[in-house]
Amino acid sequence: MPLVPMTAFLPRAKKEGFAVGQFNMNNLEFVQGIAAAAKEEQSPFIFGVSEGAMRYMGLEYVVAMAEIAAKESGVPVALHLDHGSNFDVVMKCIQAGFSSVMFDGSHHPYEENIALTKEVVKAAHAVGVSVEGELGTIGGVEDDLEVDEADAAMAKPDEAIRFWEETKVDALAIAVGTAHGMYKGEPKIHFDIIDEVAKQVEAPIVLHGGSGVPDAAIQESIRLGVGKINVNTESQVACTAVIREKLGNQPEMIDPRKYLGPGRDAIKETVQGKMRLFGSSGKA
Ligand SMILES: [Zn+2]
Repeated sequence: MPLVPMTAFLPRAKKEGFAVGQFNMNNLEFVQGIAAAAKEEQSPFIFGVSEGAMRYMGLEYVVAMAEIAAKESGVPVALHLDHGSNFDVVMKCIQAGFSSVMFDGSHHPYEENIALTKEVVKAAHAVGVSVEGELGTIGGVEDDLEVDEADAAMAKPDEAIRFWEETKVDALAIAVGTAHGMYKGEPKIHFDIIDEVAKQVEAPIVLHGGSGVPDAAIQESIRLGVGKINVNTESQVACTAVIREKLGNQPEMIDPRKYLGPGRDAIKETVQGKMRLFGSSGKA
């Protein structure tokens, strides 16, 4: 199956009350682990690629690996730019073969964010590429992004609703109390914001920083209208823990396949757990 825009499955997700996971691509083992999980679960999914990960792997490798993973897994797969910071990088990704992009204009003033996002939507929709926009500031650290907790600002529901009405993004990321990276304590999710926005906005809400959010909170947010959940840190933690243990126990180990293989299995297991939790299993 070729790469598809998120609109191939997100409207159905919101209607039927499940969420599709965005699992970030860090290297080949992540690509294979995520694709193997999806094949077994028969779940659609989104490959998230940050600008940092793109620099690490190279744009052409990213697209080629995603295309093979889509073909191999046989499920609907979107290749999605995560937190695209400007119009140029969005265009570069679309030209290279991405089927979906996020434009994160949340660091701009509100009206400017709307204007810039509208330009991205116009260009992307013209070639069948889906778009995610962001409103409010999601805290935490992820690659090039670092937002101090004090600067993380919740989205205001009326602003989020007008943002969607004007931009018509296909998925709307709003800051509701989750953060990128690992949580120090338990995250406090503002369900009231999700509820108010989801009722007025056709596009599903996106939850960034899905790693470490308690299962019950994930299920409640899906029930209220979250249709896309981003997970990266939890897969990284699972993969690295296995590799650390292998290398710690066997300092003489030098064949990368012997520790990266088990790391890949750990990613697969983590992703499968999320697909079941999100209710996307069997929805391919
Ligand atoms: Zn994010």
